[in-house]
Amino acid sequence: MIPESFVEAIVGVVGPEHIRRDEASRLAYGTDALRCGHPADLVVMPASARQIAAIARLCHQLRVPLVPRGAGTGYTGGAVPLHGGIVVSLERLNRILEIDDESLLAVVEPAVITGDLQAAVEARGLFYPPDPQSLKESSLGGNIAECAGGPRAFKYGVTRRYVLGLEAVLPTGEIIRTGSKAVKNVVGYDLTQLLVGSEGTLAIVTQMILRLVPKPPAVATLRACFVDVPAAARAVSALIRRRIVPVTLELVDQDSLDAVAAYAGTRLAPEGTGALLLVEVDGMAETVAAEVAEVAAGCREAGALEVLVARDGAEREQLWRVRRELSYALRPIAPQKINNDVVVPRGRVPELFALVDRLRATYGLRIPCFGHAGDGNIHVNIMIDPADAGQVERARQAVGDLLAGVVALEGSISGEHGIGFSKAPYLGLELSGDVIDLMKRVKQAFDPHGILNPGKIFPTGS
Ligand SMILES: Cc1cc2nc3c(=O)[nH]c(=O)nc-3n(C[C@H](O)[C@H](O)[C@H](O)COP(=O)(O)OP(=O)(O)OC[C@H]3O[C@@H](n4cnc5c(N)ncnc54)[C@H](O)[C@@H]3O)c2cc1C
Repeated sequence: MIPESFVEAIVGVVGPEHIRRDEASRLAYGTDALRCGHPADLVVMPASARQIAAIARLCHQLRVPLVPRGAGTGYTGGAVPLHGGIVVSLERLNRILEIDDESLLAVVEPAVITGDLQAAVEARGLFYPPDPQSLKESSLGGNIAECAGGPRAFKYGVTRRYVLGLEAVLPTGEIIRTGSKAVKNVVGYDLTQLLVGSEGTLAIVTQMILRLVPKPPAVATLRACFVDVPAAARAVSALIRRRIVPVTLELVDQDSLDAVAAYAGTRLAPEGTGALLLVEVDGMAETVAAEVAEVAAGCREAGALEVLVARDGAEREQLWRVRRELSYALRPIAPQKINNDVVVPRGRVPELFALVDRLRATYGLRIPCFGHAGDGNIHVNIMIDPADAGQVERARQAVGDLLAGVVALEGSISGEHGIGFSKAPYLGLELSGDVIDLMKRVKQAFDPHGILNPGKIFPTGS
């Protein structure tokens, strides 16, 4: 519990209308898409970096936990106030401050929704490529804190590539600015990139300078259906050998296709499809036409049952439907989805699927998989009923085997969602003790009293 005098001091900073203490709010702001939350003691909605700095100073003095929150779509409990304290919701810092057509950049506040920035810049012929599938809900601040990826990362890279500079509040209350509007900057340590992906454990981002690119004039979407995952993986290799760099190379497995068919009430791929690839290419119209022909040829060479090229926007939407429906289609399968966003070197994707087949057989669990085959980043979704103790234990073992297997395949236990608290027990599978200690010293330098988002990234008691 936090003292009443502390609450009064916070009210003095933001005003009484911008705090929440009722149970419903404390619970709502205490959870995220992991659906495993803990109530905050107090929810605060500041309006500026200066107010956040004042709140941080108070928390620092009294050792009160302080947890930044964007839109709460994170999958690893990053925004959950595990130890109570204050949740700082960034929701009032929601303005696009500048779109600069000449310098190809945007200056935004953290609560701007990813899709809203994309729409605003695309209306001006510009493009902000990072596209987490949560883009209609997730905030840019959350994307930066998690270094979000998405289907377009194969060609355009992840969020980090588009962050030029940041304004952020340190847990000790200072407001810092890192980077600049220039695209090149090698002055001192790259604190901008250190903050990207730091999961709200080093500083609270209050403004960012984001790089934009020209919007590609043409785009085309293809769907290729295969009998199984190995055939689809052969097609991915065939495309890479042909030196094509599609925008997206999404892979959907049989179990996921069955889930979408049950959810949509109709099959969205022809009978006999055991794996599906969604491929998108963009660029100048002539290049796109040539690449579509190359992609189709590469997929047929790998044994595609069918290759379909969308003829217009409506058909493109129809082809994407199977991918977009996936998150929703999995919900009826089981009450809980343990979403593992593992990533392996591209050429080892077939070995990853073989590992998942072994987990299915060993633990008798349903594990639909889909993801960004071009990056080797596959979402391995372990579906369970948390009320079934046997299933929970089998899932725990399956997650451990999966993550250890991914590291053995020279991959990483998280390509997109970060560690939060749900993956913290597995950090040592991938990072050596020396590296973890160095990371903790970095954390200590930013946050000497450990008040900012405690319990995240590092295993408890380590
Ligand atoms: C249906 C669905 C699809 C998804 N698809 C993808 C995908 O394709 N790719 C992908 O990468 N992720 C995906 N995600 C996960 C999630 O959307 C991303 O991690 C997203 O970046 C989180 O943004 P948010 O605003 O919801 O952040 P939150 O969940 O609110 O917070 C996430 C973390 O960021 C910190 N944080 C938030 N704002 C700030 C700030 N201003 N300063 C400092 N720290 C901050 C929080 O403390 C927390 O640790 C998906 C989630 C869902 C539910």
